[in-house]
Amino acid sequence: MVDKTLKISKIKDGTVIDHIPAGKALKVLNILNISEDVSSSVSIGIHVPSGKFGYKDVIKIENRFLEKIELDMISLIAPEASISIVTDYSIKEKFNVELPQTLLGLINCANQNCITNGNEPVKSEFETISRNPISVRCRYCEREMNYKEIQASM
Ligand SMILES: [Zn+2]
Repeated sequence: MVDKTLKISKIKDGTVIDHIPAGKALKVLNILNISEDVSSSVSIGIHVPSGKFGYKDVIKIENRFLEKIELDMISLIAPEASISIVTDYSIKEKFNVELPQTLLGLINCANQNCITNGNEPVKSEFETISRNPISVRCRYCEREMNYKEIQASM
């Protein structure tokens, strides 16, 4: 039997972000501010076969543990993502990201006339109205944004 799964090297200490929608890994890296001058090893699997989702992306980052705000941002791009915290080659903790009920300053409102897009700085605030499919509503102008619009606003 041929093993078709892509094997990404194990990490000693760090974070594994699994079940990212195929093609969204680079967006996640962008959120985590991982660019060419990164100081730790990063393994990226793009379009990896996955029984459950068809295809997925996977990211493994050495010596990096994510902040709450980073997890919240990831939940907007990859609502199904699972996070594994690895210490000394074993998974110490595993959980799924969870889209928060309130999104403070994470995304920009798609309504150009919204007060949050004005000259006076007003922090954006969105309420989650649906998780599957993902949908959020601006607290100020009531504009609703779907997954595609959220992606465009980040
Ligand atoms: Zn708005």
